[in-house]
Amino acid sequence: MTISSIEAIALIDANNFYASCEQSINPHLRNKPVVILSNNDGCIIARSPEARALKIKMGSPYFKEKERLNKLDVAVLSSNYSLYADMSKRLMNLLKNYCEKIEIYSIDEAFVSISRPNNKNLYPWARKIRALTYQNLGITITIGIAENKVRAKVANKLAKNIDYSAGIFDLARNENENSYFKEISVDKIWGIGKQTSNWLKSKGIKNAQELIDMKESEIFKKLGIVGKRLQLELKGYKCLTLEKGNKSKREIQVSRSFGTPITKLEDLTQALAIYAIKASAKMRSQSLQTSAISVFTRTSKYSSQNYQRSAHKKLINATDNTNVILKIVVALSKEIYNPEYKLSKAGVLMQDLTNCNYLQQSIITYKFQEDIKKSENLMRTIDSLNKKYNNKAITWAITKKTKEWTINRNLLSRTSTTDIRKIPTIVI
Ligand SMILES: [Mg+2]
Repeated sequence: MTISSIEAIALIDANNFYASCEQSINPHLRNKPVVILSNNDGCIIARSPEARALKIKMGSPYFKEKERLNKLDVAVLSSNYSLYADMSKRLMNLLKNYCEKIEIYSIDEAFVSISRPNNKNLYPWARKIRALTYQNLGITITIGIAENKVRAKVANKLAKNIDYSAGIFDLARNENENSYFKEISVDKIWGIGKQTSNWLKSKGIKNAQELIDMKESEIFKKLGIVGKRLQLELKGYKCLTLEKGNKSKREIQVSRSFGTPITKLEDLTQALAIYAIKASAKMRSQSLQTSAISVFTRTSKYSSQNYQRSAHKKLINATDNTNVILKIVVALSKEIYNPEYKLSKAGVLMQDLTNCNYLQQSIITYKFQEDIKKSENLMRTIDSLNKKYNNKAITWAITKKTKEWTINRNLLSRTSTTDIRKIPTIVI
């Protein structure tokens, strides 16, 4: 046996993640139908299993379903992203302790690698992390185990679909895998998009087993190396490696839809300034600096008006200084503003990110070390004060003033896991 066959790959996925987070922090919601709404309480974007059982559709607009949800006594909540991000962080930190390598794939999914014990049985390991996750976070996870990433994804799907699996399925320990593969439609395989699945279906390939049996040369001719790798992984070869966590990002975007559309330049500038302050703090927390800044705005997809603009500035010196970034963003906001349109969304993008430990100096506008130190100290002080007190302890004057356009989140749950002021108090 080769070393590599001892290593197993598992895909760990939290079930109904947003709804589970809400049920976890509010015991009244346990075993009750819960739905979560998108930004501005627009559409249903997540459902608890109890809500699924009531046949409440994903993506349907809230205003259309409101009456029915009321009648069915469904709990309706605005999306509480700081709660979900915090729970995700806790989940990944827990998983890290029980695997050798981890690739955080999305907010509620991770690929992990783990060596098989001598008896090859990873079920006790999987049961343990499943129990620990429930005990510590109050959420349920599904674990698919196999020899590689594509098969781990398949195993995860099987763990969800097969009732007796109890949320864990090890594909490598199953004799009649052909019968399982025949049940998996090609469009459900990880990495197969709509176009590819249409092409496969036109060739008479409907399920995973038929894709495995397809002629390699035919796949390669149409889908190239990506398709070949996918077929090899389905067969059990290992082609895709786990990508290390904490990849540094290539860009940072902060954008929001407005609660009410805006028409004044002042409002647009203020919104962009707030996003720029957020984005700069985010960059500093990851030791990154930007050398290209973009801003954009657009009208609503649902309105009859159609307007979108963006503006861009390249910088000579990379920076993470909010003062410098704000000046640029304020100037750029004038370029994208048009008084004739009702703007419903805007955002800022920090691009060409580099690590600030390897700062490249331009010879044209060489900044003196002392100036750099001063600006660094100021930003560090602001960040630490905001971290200690709350996010708005110190901010820029441009952000002050009532904001009618801020996001509507009328049905927001508590933020007790991320905001110290919201921790419940018990009065005896
Ligand atoms: Mg999930």
